[in-house]
Amino acid sequence: MEAPAARALRLGPDVDQALRAHAERAWPEECCGALLGDRASVFVALPLENTAGDRRRGFLVSARDSLRVEAEAEARGLRWVGVYHSHPDAPAVPSAADGSTAWPDGWTVIIPVRAGVAGDPRAYWFDADLGRFTAAPAATLQAVHFER
Ligand SMILES: [Zn+2]
Repeated sequence: MEAPAARALRLGPDVDQALRAHAERAWPEECCGALLGDRASVFVALPLENTAGDRRRGFLVSARDSLRVEAEAEARGLRWVGVYHSHPDAPAVPSAADGSTAWPDGWTVIIPVRAGVAGDPRAYWFDADLGRFTAAPAATLQAVHFER
């Protein structure tokens, strides 16, 4: 799958709010979830259970939840375009471990949470061939309204 031209990602206003709220609920642990949409936009965020052994330092999505997300995406006529997770008391920059859990040729959105208060989500495109993240321009994360 080709990366969107500008590697820009738009989050609907309800998605932006949902990500921040989930990140704050989970603090001081990491939250995680699935992003459903199309190549350049996220229309739905599905909160998932973080099944990692140490939830303060990482996240893991169960195989059962992965199947559930695939079914949900198909039912809604959307694609599973990426994953989101929070960084409790750390910046919204991918960690070394994030490369191993990244959605290949898809989006990783990170929500920073400082002392229980969420900051602006940041989006990164993960190129599976190069094995690295590219940050999306912050401006593209402004809330926009979708006609669906
Ligand atoms: Zn991370």
